[in-house]
This record gives sequence, structure tokens and C-alpha cells, in this order.
Amino acid sequence: MVKSVPRPLVAGNWKMNGTTAMLKEPRLLAGMLRGVKLKCEVLVCPPATLARRVKAVMKGSRIKVGGQDCHWNVSGAHTGDVSAEMLKDAGCTAVIVGHSERRTNHAETDDMVAKKAKAAHAAGLIAIICIGETLDQRKSGKALEVASTQLKGSLPEGATAANTVIAYEPVWAIGTGLTPTVAEVAEVHTHIRNDLAKLMGDAGAGVRILYGGSVKPSNASELMAAANVNGALVGGASLKAPDFIGIIKAYM
Ligand code: PEP
Repeated sequence: MVKSVPRPLVAGNWKMNGTTAMLKEPRLLAGMLRGVKLKCEVLVCPPATLARRVKAVMKGSRIKVGGQDCHWNVSGAHTGDVSAEMLKDAGCTAVIVGHSERRTNHAETDDMVAKKAKAAHAAGLIAIICIGETLDQRKSGKALEVASTQLKGSLPEGATAANTVIAYEPVWAIGTGLTPTVAEVAEVHTHIRNDLAKLMGDAGAGVRILYGGSVKPSNASELMAAANVNGALVGGASLKAPDFIGIIKAYM
């Protein structure tokens, strides 16, 4: 049977920001959300060094903690890397894989992203798989083609609606203040939804598709209302609790 609309997710990606001085933000966030009826799940993805601390300061809240990347191996000679098992051990429930900054700065391919997502699943983590076109690709009319290619190449065997989230993040919208129009977002998300049906059958209907790229309190409601948008992946605006709450408000 086809699952109805998936429960939205609003996830914050702190990127390489945050020392213990930042712990006041998740504490504030947990306080602000206490007793609030939410129609979405909330996830905070701090640097791995802070995962356990962030989880501790939000103890008792419904906010979950995630990682920003993982290696596909469980352990071994991979200096500087973190495995999905390590993130799980630190209290994470999810991990972002294939973020465009990883694809660009670390030359990560779809195949590597699929291996990372598979490792996340094996560790019991939800894999948030990021895909999205560059500005040149958008300008040359290739946004849908890029979404299809990256989705097909990055989705591992064994992906289900429960263990996988897709984040559509146009590279040109990340950290720039630019966003696609609501119609453009709806077009890509509906295309991804159709591709998920082709790749996963009925289960594709239950996979959450997040929009990411310059989401802020002032544009969250209209972007989240677009067809097949099931939440947001938020970078810059997730660093300050009041801004992040302003986005979560789209689901209050
Ligand atoms: C991101 O890095 O995933 C992101 C969406 O960043 P920002 O919200 O700052 O554009």
C-alpha cells in the first residue's frame, strides 16, 4: 500500500562551526520547543566533536542529533575520518552524506556517497543523501537530469522510507541567499518523487525529500508548502536557535 504524506523533518547542518561555547544554542532550542506541538521532526547536525555534548544538553527533548558525513568503512586506517558506527556510538540517529561541499572539496562521487549511505544503514542511522545541480547545470536546463543521475547513483541497495531521506540542495543556493522559485522547487521535488517510485516502488512515496539552500524564517513557509517538500536542510540559519525556530515554525 502507498504510504501517505511522510512526517516532515527539519535538519540543521552546523558544518565546521561550533565549540563548547555553542552548546547554549541547542539548550535554547530545546527550551523553546518544550511543550510545543510540532508537526515535524527536528535534527541538529553539529561537528562530530560535539555530537555527544549536544545530545546531552538536549536530553529529554524530542530533538535528535546527527552527523555531517561518515566513512563507508567501520574502522581502519582512514586518518581524520569518522565511521557511521562512531556517530551511532556518540548518540546520532542520522548522518548527512553527499553534501555538495563534500562532493566539491573532497571529490566525492555518487558511488562513494552510495557506499556511505549503505554504511549509515548498516549502523542503524538514517542517511540524508544530498543531491543538486550547479548554477551552470541549472542555466543549461539540466537540473532534472542531474537530480536523476545523482539520485540513481547515490541511493544504495536496501534504501527504505525509514532509513533514507533525500535532500535537494541546488549548489548555487547554498549559503548565497539565492533560492529557486517555489515552482522550480516543486518541479524538482516532484521529479525526485517520481524517480523514487521508479527506483523503490511504493516505498518511494514515503521517503522524505528535504529542500536545502538559503532557507530562512522569512521564506520557510512558502518553500515548505511546495509540492513534495517534506522539510528542510538548513545551514547558516541553524546556528542560531531563534532563526532555526523561525524555520521550524512552518510546521507549528
Ligand atoms: C547546507 O549547507 O546544507 C545549506 C542548505 O546551507 P544554507 O542553509 O546556509 O544555504
